[in-house]
Amino acid sequence: MKYLALIVALCFPFGLAAQTGKPDLLVQKVVSEVSKDRIGATMKRLGDFGTRSVFSDTDEPNHGIKAARTWIYNEFKSYSPRLEVSYDPWKVKKQTRIFRDVELVNVVAVLPGTTQPEKRIIISGHYDSLAIVTRAGAADFRANGDGATDAMDPEKSALAPAPGVSDDASGTAVVMELARVMSQYKFEKTLVFVAFAGEEVGLVGSTLYADRAKEQGQKIEAVLNNDIVGNDVMGDGRAQSGLVRVFSEEPADSNSRELARYVREVAMKYVPAFRADLVFRNDRFSRGGDHTPFVANGFAGVRFTTPAENLGVQHTPNDTFDKASPAYTANVAKVNAAAAASLALAPPAPEVNREITTGVNKGKQTPNLARGKSLYDAVLRWKDANVEDLAGYAVVMRPTTAPFWEREIFVGKATEYTFEGLSIDDIVIGVKAIDKDGNESLVSPYIATPYPRRPIELVQ
Ligand SMILES: [Zn+2]
Repeated sequence: MKYLALIVALCFPFGLAAQTGKPDLLVQKVVSEVSKDRIGATMKRLGDFGTRSVFSDTDEPNHGIKAARTWIYNEFKSYSPRLEVSYDPWKVKKQTRIFRDVELVNVVAVLPGTTQPEKRIIISGHYDSLAIVTRAGAADFRANGDGATDAMDPEKSALAPAPGVSDDASGTAVVMELARVMSQYKFEKTLVFVAFAGEEVGLVGSTLYADRAKEQGQKIEAVLNNDIVGNDVMGDGRAQSGLVRVFSEEPADSNSRELARYVREVAMKYVPAFRADLVFRNDRFSRGGDHTPFVANGFAGVRFTTPAENLGVQHTPNDTFDKASPAYTANVAKVNAAAAASLALAPPAPEVNREITTGVNKGKQTPNLARGKSLYDAVLRWKDANVEDLAGYAVVMRPTTAPFWEREIFVGKATEYTFEGLSIDDIVIGVKAIDKDGNESLVSPYIATPYPRRPIELVQ
């Protein structure tokens, strides 16, 4: 293993190194079983409901959001008896973009974990849709790529056709396909597949869900949110089919950024013909997504979006299936599957030790601990995860200016590693746990505690 890490480091000196652990057979299997035909059929079916506006909650059997969610619910139910399927309803008062009181219903399918069931991994998309009609008139569809704005006439918009195939039947199709494939197998951690409602009226379903999860003290390790992953040709005809953008919140070692790095590495390992390209910001300019309420609550969350957004048809009646590419969406689903399955099989991420454990400074956090006895080495210490299925730990390192980990060294079951002669001030270091099948945890980075702000007292 040590030699492998060395070879990887030598072959990819510019930070291209993928994960050290060997490919896991179950992860490979799950990735290979993602079906582009099923994903295409789901996107088409959701588009055929005509609109999935949150205000289209009628009893029509094949039209509107209620019919759509009933269909999603029944599909979830049909995949496996081990999927715990439920509606998550909320009665939301009239406010901002919500012109009347409305019931929003998330559709949730839970695959309980075996040995680490308290840890949750969420795969999400939103099944509601929106066509924006401005106050100027029903024919004046606003197609600038922005979401609902003050110029929108909410009542007219509620009645407009809104097939929403790329936004976001595509993300919902990813969620449903992963639920179908993954529910045939068992994973250590709990997988939660969610089709959110009310994204288009202000991230409402996801905000209510995330706030409650925080209140309940849920341990959500990752949120993989898919929104606009249905097409690979832009409105001006340019195509970008070989990659998906993965957005993650600053700063450089936030838990969301470590998740994004993880997604990029598993994509290299399990979906080599496709790339996860990271964008180092939480989302596109003045646009929102359902990962954000989770990130705001301290959970790690990323957003998957095509680099080829068709801004001319988003939020119009023209976001239709003929512009979709199920083959593209299937690749995005494979990256999601690789990330979710790897994480769900991986040991817990190690807890990096920044605390002095003995003496008068016991309990204090100190960066000096990481300088080692010599004061001129970088030393990383972590707590042993104490789990049976553990091959060992790998430490990682990069310069502070580098986006990705550049060195990776497998250190076995050690709980301390010294980067000799390297100054902790000039690099970022971290550690991850790897199980016997090669599944890797997220990296726990060593992050300095913020400089304490103390008011300076002046002589009066
Ligand atoms: Zn969307």
